[in-house]
Order: sequence, then structure tokens, then C-alpha cells
Amino acid sequence: MNPRLHISPIPAFQDNYIWAIHDDRHAAVVDPGDAVAVLDFLQQHQLTLTAILITHHHHDHVGGIAALLAHGAVPVYGPALEPIPHLSHPLREGQHIHLEALDADFQILDLPGHTLGHIAYYGINSAFCGDTLFGCGCGRLFEGTAAQMLNSLSKLARLPAATAVYCAHEYTLSNITFALTLEPDNLALQQRHTRDSDLRAHQQPTLPSTIAIELASNPFLRCHLPKLQHVFNTDNTLATFTAMRLLKDNF
Ligand code: ZN
Ligand code: FE
Repeated sequence: MNPRLHISPIPAFQDNYIWAIHDDRHAAVVDPGDAVAVLDFLQQHQLTLTAILITHHHHDHVGGIAALLAHGAVPVYGPALEPIPHLSHPLREGQHIHLEALDADFQILDLPGHTLGHIAYYGINSAFCGDTLFGCGCGRLFEGTAAQMLNSLSKLARLPAATAVYCAHEYTLSNITFALTLEPDNLALQQRHTRDSDLRAHQQPTLPSTIAIELASNPFLRCHLPKLQHVFNTDNTLATFTAMRLLKDNF
């Protein structure tokens, strides 16, 4: 792995993060919904764009592709099963990509649920998971079923505990507020609330988190626990997840 690699957030719109994977010369960007924010970042850091990575087809993730390509052709990686503008490398689970200029490798995971073709990029001890796993939460079910989303979240939950989690939105604090209504006595969750409130008060991102942090505090990864099943009067992981997602939709 390239020891000079950095991962930087490029804030966009209200609460999106476009993640830039870069060294001191080249950059790849994940889910560039807004080209202007990316171009400003590249110019400010004197970086050349070498690849675009897309997790799913929503506009806040793909809206900047065309304008970025107008500044120079680069490969556009993205889900094979979704209509991604200018997609040059359609990807499915089991495939690997190698970003040569950055010397970085990623494995592709299929994560249906938020959308049906949603993918994640797992590599350099990091998961770029788009709108599937959020800090202390998960994406809405726009296209898939609760069972598909639960299975997708389980795939992420099985990654090594130290894996850094790069989500596409800063939703962590409101997710923590919801999680505390379900598990007010969860110490890891209470500590996360303190830490992340402080970060946001200083305009800092709460991300990346880690798989370990999510396992300890994210209720959507904890639906197998009797204590959470009890909240929803069930003894079943999927029923708990389904009820939890529904409750959060109206929170
Ligand atoms: Zn989305
Ligand atoms: Fe989004």
C-alpha cells in the first residue's frame, strides 16, 4: 500500500462528502455529486484527477461526472447494474480494481438495499460505502427490501474491525439521537455522542468511523441482539431491522 496516500473529505451540498483518495500529485474521487467542489479541491492541492469511483446512481453522487470529464478524460468506475453517466468500468461483486497512479487496490462488494445496484469499494483498510452504512445509521430503502439491506450491512459488518468507514453523508449526530432512544444505556453510544457532538461543534467531520465503532453503537448492525429485539417485541433479526428502519423513516 502506498504510504503517501491520504483520504480527504470534500464537503458538498448540505451534508454530502465526496472522498478524495490522493497522494501529493494524483487523486481519485468517490461520488462526485458536485464538480465545482472537486475542481476547487484539486486546484488548491495541485492534484491531477486520475479516476472517478461511483457507488450508486443518485444525483448527489453522480451529478459532477460530466463536468469533471470536460477537464480531462479519466476512467469512471461504478455499478454495472445502474445507469451511471459516462461509466467506463462497470463493476460487480468479486471484481478488483487497481488505481495505478495511486497504487491502490479495491475489492467490489454488492450492497443492494438503498438502490438495487449499489456497490462499495473496499481496500487500503477502508470501505467507501456510499449511502448503505452511515455513521450510527443506514441508508433508506429506496429500491431494495429490508432483507437485502440487512444482508448488505452484514457484509460490511464482517470486514476487519479496524476498517475505516467512509460514508457519503454527515448524518451521524441525528442517527446517534435516534440510536439513544433505543439503547440509552449503551456506553459506546454515549461516548460516541460526546465525541461526535464535539467534532460537529468544531465543524469537523465525524467520519471516517470504523467497523468496530459501528458494531458497538450502530443499532442497524445490532438487530441480532435480544436487547434490541425486545424494543420491537420480536425475537427475529429481520423483523427488528424492518421495524427499526420504519421507525427511523418517521423519526
Ligand atoms: Zn443515495
Ligand atoms: Fe446520497
